Amino acid sequence: MTQVSDQTIREVVQQVLQHVQSGWGQRVAPTPGSSAPPPVSAAGAPTGGRFGQFTSVSEAVEAAKTAQRALMKRSLAQRDLAVEQIRKIITDQADQLGRMEYEETKIGHAPHKPEKLLAAAQVAQGVRGLATDCFSGDHGITLDERGPWGVIGVITPVTHSLPTLAVNSMDIITAGNSLVCNPHPGGKKIAAHGARLFNQAIHDKLGIDNLICVITNPTIESANEIFKHPDVELLAITGGPGVVAAALRSGKRAICAGPGNPPVVVDESADLANAARCILEGCAYDNNLLCISEKEAYVVGQVFEAMMQAMADVGACRLTPQQMDQLAQICIEPGADGGHPHANKKFVGAEPHVIAREIGVTVPAECRLLYGETTQASPFVQAEQMMPVLPFVKCERFEQAVDYAKQAEHGFRHTAVIHSRLVDHMTYMGKEINTTIYVKNGPSVAGNGAGGEGYGSYSIACSTGEGIATPLTYTRFRRCCMVDNLRIV
Ligand code: NAD
Repeated sequence: MTQVSDQTIREVVQQVLQHVQSGWGQRVAPTPGSSAPPPVSAAGAPTGGRFGQFTSVSEAVEAAKTAQRALMKRSLAQRDLAVEQIRKIITDQADQLGRMEYEETKIGHAPHKPEKLLAAAQVAQGVRGLATDCFSGDHGITLDERGPWGVIGVITPVTHSLPTLAVNSMDIITAGNSLVCNPHPGGKKIAAHGARLFNQAIHDKLGIDNLICVITNPTIESANEIFKHPDVELLAITGGPGVVAAALRSGKRAICAGPGNPPVVVDESADLANAARCILEGCAYDNNLLCISEKEAYVVGQVFEAMMQAMADVGACRLTPQQMDQLAQICIEPGADGGHPHANKKFVGAEPHVIAREIGVTVPAECRLLYGETTQASPFVQAEQMMPVLPFVKCERFEQAVDYAKQAEHGFRHTAVIHSRLVDHMTYMGKEINTTIYVKNGPSVAGNGAGGEGYGSYSIACSTGEGIATPLTYTRFRRCCMVDNLRIV
């Protein structure tokens, strides 16, 4: 048996795509204002016109099922067309939608909300990502393809409600699925509004409604109903430790983009000015709401003071160790049952000057980050704080920094960063820390496609190992095998 070369596969796929784009394979091609009959459920009830707005999980799943069946009758080009509608909405309406998300959630840095939607528009890969593998030999021809699951149950976080829903929707539809989303209650309005716009636009172009269904009054109970629903084939979870554990208990396969607590290590060889610029960029972005952002810093003693000065040089505001302890008492709450401490929700994504005010410290409104020396035991180190306060721990040796970093990462296998010019150090930490994303000499966000090579996503499946989600993440392997025939050479 021989494996067909990549070049041959590319040529065949190219030809098929040209056919598809020229209209071949479009069994139904409604145009705006199409007179195509409204979609109906399996039971025959009309489900069109809801534009994805549901209070009942069972109705939402039924409508998503109908929509997915309709999608499967369409060409790959039409899946791309659906995705294009979402991309266009979050690009053209980024300012307005970003403002709505900020007004509802009241967390993060307002100017970053539209940027996050524009970034979301860039990441979706379209059907080109659904690679087909092909084998040809004495025994015929075999195609390995990526098929859909059906209806996918989706959970989104409050930290990026609409960006996560948008990227999940684009990837999931590209893979030929539909979805039912239980958004975080704190970001439910923007999720429902976004879903309405997406479904309306897709319905206008394709005549299919409800590919993206949203529970408009989401609760833990409705999440559990989705987890247990027999017609939900796969779960796609983005959130903290509680929801990841709940999804994994459901008995269904779950792709879990869970929590992180990304450490950054700075050794004696690092370019400190670059390290400070990068840490400020990654950590302060959207007031440290990103799961990938630097959450604690370890610096070897020899360059500790110089690094602290470098942070001040890029505009971060330094607090004393006593002030860091005082703030930790207010901003971080103890974990239950011996669990890790966690952020006090009141300060998640708050502005630095608002947080500093809590301990009577005044910093300029333009200050993007508070930082200061702490010990490894500080709640700011151990908690995924999601606020622009970065603890710095002084370490005796590089190996101690890596040990501390590993401990603070809590085995989430999410993200870690190093600033060093020593290849041995980079390699050592990479092997020890064992995270999904490992960034060297750049901001954490570079590991998610922002300023580094490669693609990104708003769902980094670190907990279950699928990594940075793409359309392929939401597919099933399917093999199609023709024995002893079809081969023409
Ligand atoms: P959260 O865990 O409070 O909520 C996330 C979602 O899970 C929400 O929709 C919430 O309603 C739901 N939920 C929470 N507990 C649940 C339970 N027991 N059963 C069912 N549903 C439940 O998190 P958040 O504050 O919205 O988001 C921040 C968290 O998400 C952080 O831990 C962050 O690291 C993580 N996150 C991870 C990624 C990633 O790609 N890995 C991306 C974004 C956010």
